[in-house]
Amino acid sequence: MLGGIFLGIICGWNFGKKMEVVAWIGEMFLDVLKMLVIPLIVSSMIVGIAGLGDIRKVGKTGGITLAYFCGTTALAVMVGMIMVNLIQPGVGVELTTGVPERVAGKVSTGLTDIMKSFVSPNLFEAMVKMDILPIIVFSLLFGGTLTTLGESGKPVIAFFEGVNLAIMKMVHLIMLISPLGVFALISSKLGAAGGGDMFVAELMKIGKYALTVVSALLVHSAIILAGLLYLLTKRNPWIFFKNTSEALTTAFSTASSSATLPVTMECAIEENRISPKAVQFVLPIGATVNMDGTAMYESVAAIFIAQMMGIELSMMEQTIIFMTATLAAIGAAGIPEAGLVTMVMVLQSVGLPLEGIGMLLSIDWFLDRCRTTVNVWGDSVGCAVVAALEEKYVEGENAT
Ligand code: ASP
Repeated sequence: MLGGIFLGIICGWNFGKKMEVVAWIGEMFLDVLKMLVIPLIVSSMIVGIAGLGDIRKVGKTGGITLAYFCGTTALAVMVGMIMVNLIQPGVGVELTTGVPERVAGKVSTGLTDIMKSFVSPNLFEAMVKMDILPIIVFSLLFGGTLTTLGESGKPVIAFFEGVNLAIMKMVHLIMLISPLGVFALISSKLGAAGGGDMFVAELMKIGKYALTVVSALLVHSAIILAGLLYLLTKRNPWIFFKNTSEALTTAFSTASSSATLPVTMECAIEENRISPKAVQFVLPIGATVNMDGTAMYESVAAIFIAQMMGIELSMMEQTIIFMTATLAAIGAAGIPEAGLVTMVMVLQSVGLPLEGIGMLLSIDWFLDRCRTTVNVWGDSVGCAVVAALEEKYVEGENAT
């Protein structure tokens, strides 16, 4: 898969728009992955919740998962804010764009909108639109209820176990063509963006900003998340990283945590040998709500825009950015460039103009891939951490 990425970069860089001829292969690869997402989430969550069994265990495991998600997202935002305040990438950059069409007229999403997105009046509509949160909530409740039905619930759980096994086998087969898919996605995207020369030209304009985002993402992944992994699970972060590389390369090439979910689960179970119970419970939720990379990106981008416009942000305003960036990342869907749209909420919370988003557009397709990779890395580490803590505190307690 790394070969696919490298070859993709080389071809996209040199042949530019000509590489758009392979775009259909990339789209097909993406669609095949997406095709598996809904049945995978439904069956995993039902089997996962049934595997945890007793409702008290579900509560404790859920608590550990939420604590990990909130804690690491907040750390990511903090790292981003420290770096952007130190590097000051926006100082001296001239604003030359208007409000991009994609965000014009978007009203900021508030806390109540995020709460409302957890349910949907129509489950099938949610599936059609790939609105994952209501599907997760339904599957959690459905799986939980099945475990209370005794004998009547067992065949239904067994059915979903079969569905889950079949989908995971299909993921395994799809991974055989993934190097080709990754190559097509990367080369056509880089080509469509105008190839290497164009990319370098865009990078020159806001290169310091891109550098700030990429270095903050690296610090968070390689120091904070890898450190937590080592401290809490005693796993070797390098080996864990190597075992997760198929998911990370898929995340980089698809720019979608949701489309990558089947591969993330496959790596967690087959390569990192994390207990399927934890994987089935943690990863579908993580792919939707736990986005360290996105949260960090939103805060860096907001402060970059303020710096560019010469607006001095008070400590209070920076705290508001800290909170809204965390919420915006929870509210962002696991699809390409979702973070760019939820950023409206962050900017409006401190009265920053939306014009600033226009400056980020040209390079966002690239930074989106970087932050999606970190989102998936954060989910994978989280899954190992929850599995280890669950074994220690929830299972251990029951054994004594
Ligand atoms: N593309 C990201 C993801 O799927 C979301 C974003 O930050 O735009 O995780």
